[in-house]
Amino acid sequence: MRYYVLDRGDQLSVDLSESFHKLAAEQGLELDAKSPDIVVSIGGDGTMLHAFHTFKDRIPSIAFVGIHTGHLGFYADWKADEIPELVHMMSGHADPGLLKPRIVNYPLIDLEIVNKSGTSSYVCLNEFTLKSVDGTVVAQVDINDQMFEMFRGDGICVSTPSGSTAYNKSLGGAMIHPSIEALQITEIASINNRVFRTMGSPLVLPKHHHCDIYSRKEQNLLLTVDHNNVHISDLISVRCQVAKQKISFVRYRPFPFWNRVRNAFLE
Ligand code: NAP
Repeated sequence: MRYYVLDRGDQLSVDLSESFHKLAAEQGLELDAKSPDIVVSIGGDGTMLHAFHTFKDRIPSIAFVGIHTGHLGFYADWKADEIPELVHMMSGHADPGLLKPRIVNYPLIDLEIVNKSGTSSYVCLNEFTLKSVDGTVVAQVDINDQMFEMFRGDGICVSTPSGSTAYNKSLGGAMIHPSIEALQITEIASINNRVFRTMGSPLVLPKHHHCDIYSRKEQNLLLTVDHNNVHISDLISVRCQVAKQKISFVRYRPFPFWNRVRNAFLE
């Protein structure tokens, strides 16, 4: 079993990373930065976003596992003091009476940006947002090649089911179970009055649908893809849809999504 560890960089996460490597060596796990089978993220959900983007070109052949060093994470479900148990399970030495590890797959979003200088592609684990850096965003939103609405406001957020508990939640979007292959479009402070009108409600699109956003004025836009910011000038269009590939997480024990939601927001 080849593994790699990515940590948040704070002292606790760095120390835990070192002790992970020590235990892993004792259990015969092989450290491999280029082609790991499992990538371990030590930190928070933000660290998992970094881990995902570091290995985004190898997504089909990697499973991720998260150890949290702060509050419980949506992507990180092991605590610091459980590292010996996790390493033991990763090495395949776990008690045969225990449940076998399971791979769970979560949907991602594929994004294609067209501006005057060309086309670029991105993949999102949480969401992308399109915001203006100089005034109101004016954009036409099409769904499946049909004009849907003309958006005016601070921006648009398009999230994955696992990202629905992040920025999308702050925007009043629904939390979506990651077994549902969908993307969710939420508005960021849309302008709604007698002249300008948008739907106002979050929209959930199934995986066989796509959404295009066309810039309708000369505007400098900020595209965020998870934790990354990209400045875009001369935007022509954005196309998004549920990605064909999914991210895999390895689960050595059950931790249902709704328990995570409850732990994070209600307890
Ligand atoms: P950050 O601003 O340092 O952290 C944002 C917070 O979002 C952190 O508490 C992070 O958890 C949490 N988070 C990340 N993914 C999550 C998920 N899937 N479900 C629930 N909570 C989640 O930024 P960052 O650490 O680089 O993370 C980037 C993310 O921040 C973006 O993808 C976006 O979702 C989120 N964000 C939210 C808002 C908002 O709610 N108004 C605004 C901008 C960005 P950890 O502490 O465990 O890392």
